[in-house]
Amino acid sequence: MSATQKHTNALQNALFRVITKASENLNLKSYVIGGYVRDYFLERGNAKDIDVVAIGSGIKLATEVSKLLPNKPKVSVFKNYGTAMLKTNGIELEFVGARKESYQKNSRNPIVENGTLEDDQNRRDFTINALALSLNDVTFGELLDPFNGIQDLQNKVIRTPLNPDITYSDDPLRMMRAIRFATQLQFTIEEKSLQAITKNAARINIISKERIVDELHKILSSKKPSIGFALLHKTGLLSYILPELVALQGVEEVEGQRHKDNFWHTLEVVDNIAQTTDNLWLRWAALLHDIGKAPTKRFNKKQGWTFHGHEFVGSKMVYKLFKRLKMPLNDKMKFVQKMVLLSSRPIVIATDVTDSAVRRLVFDAGNTIDELMTLCEADITTKNEKRKKKYKENFKRVRKKIIEVEERDRIRNFQPPVSGEEIMKTFNLKPSREIGIIKETIKEAILDGKIPNEYEAAKKLMLQKGKELGLTPIIK
Ligand code: ATP
Repeated sequence: MSATQKHTNALQNALFRVITKASENLNLKSYVIGGYVRDYFLERGNAKDIDVVAIGSGIKLATEVSKLLPNKPKVSVFKNYGTAMLKTNGIELEFVGARKESYQKNSRNPIVENGTLEDDQNRRDFTINALALSLNDVTFGELLDPFNGIQDLQNKVIRTPLNPDITYSDDPLRMMRAIRFATQLQFTIEEKSLQAITKNAARINIISKERIVDELHKILSSKKPSIGFALLHKTGLLSYILPELVALQGVEEVEGQRHKDNFWHTLEVVDNIAQTTDNLWLRWAALLHDIGKAPTKRFNKKQGWTFHGHEFVGSKMVYKLFKRLKMPLNDKMKFVQKMVLLSSRPIVIATDVTDSAVRRLVFDAGNTIDELMTLCEADITTKNEKRKKKYKENFKRVRKKIIEVEERDRIRNFQPPVSGEEIMKTFNLKPSREIGIIKETIKEAILDGKIPNEYEAAKKLMLQKGKELGLTPIIK
């Protein structure tokens, strides 16, 4: 590619010419830089975020661009960062003045001075993110690629423009970004970079949890998340972020009996589920579904390796992990906990699918039964094709049975057919233990299939149980 080749195809949107005009009015130079340019060369579709660097004031340029646009969009100014943003026609334009950065040891916030385009490209994290296209009239569309970013795009390599050791130490978030881009783009990280990340892994501690989680979400949302988690593990970052996962790694052998490596198994499960769902929280559940196995692992001669109660322990660990990472402790967390808690249930019943076991499963899983089945299907990682086929068929039977039982018994959002209030009125009771006992008896009888999930049958059982408890109905 010759240096003077013009990539005007990347700049067809009329907005770019407006920026050119605004730059001329202010007598400054401007360039589109970063993700937009990278994604254009990767043919990743039309990016909606465009970063523009001005050799001068980014804020003034944003204001001038807004003036020239027919709809005069509002300009949001972030004075502290020297940036400004405006939205127009679904596109987010971010303006920044070219800058030169220098870092201090304990902060990822650099000391910033005005700089040239080269200074600004130097401060970018990766060569593929430092590509710039000129928005200036005579050179419009010319590529400025001082670090051979185009070649790295072709070779699918993540590389830092400057010394990687300094780049990652200056701003340790870049370690997460490198791994995130490697995962999203399925690129490899240059060896020197990998070594530098490994060396600087502990510095991740100066990064806010929110930013770390943001990158984890992006890794988990990608097509093959295992790429990222394997790299986080290899570089040592995972021990600082998700030590619960690292604890799953390894195979122990006692008396010739081995258990599987639950870390690598987990990564396979995550990749499997990434093929069947985009639900981020279900992907989190897949990542965490076995975390209770490390603290519950035991060996005894009779049973070999066991992980008794790991689902319960795991679901408790989910809360602690979310809290530590400052993730939301809301219904999303509860959903992940529920998935972890119930993660073995469909497997247990798969070989012997009785109506009552399915009814209980649907009762406990409620509206999340489909997600739970998706998780269990992703959990099949056996390399034995025959067994794999058998497990898949078992789950198919469970799914079929769920539908049958649902149609008949409507357990999913179980509402007792006889209310507590009716029990109180019938036996002239104040709130008391007996009401709970009668309600529980009815629920259990329905789940066991002893009575149908219907009012008349439930009422009959209520009267019968009341009698057993020595109660006399005042309403018949
Ligand atoms: P995506 O939108 O897919 O996350 P992007 O490259 O646009 O990709 P942004 O986080 O929006 O990512 O960053 C825009 C640009 O800013 C990057 O392309 C890069 O040049 C620069 N950049 C962002 N974060 C850093 C950082 N921590 N260190 C150095 N440069 C960075």
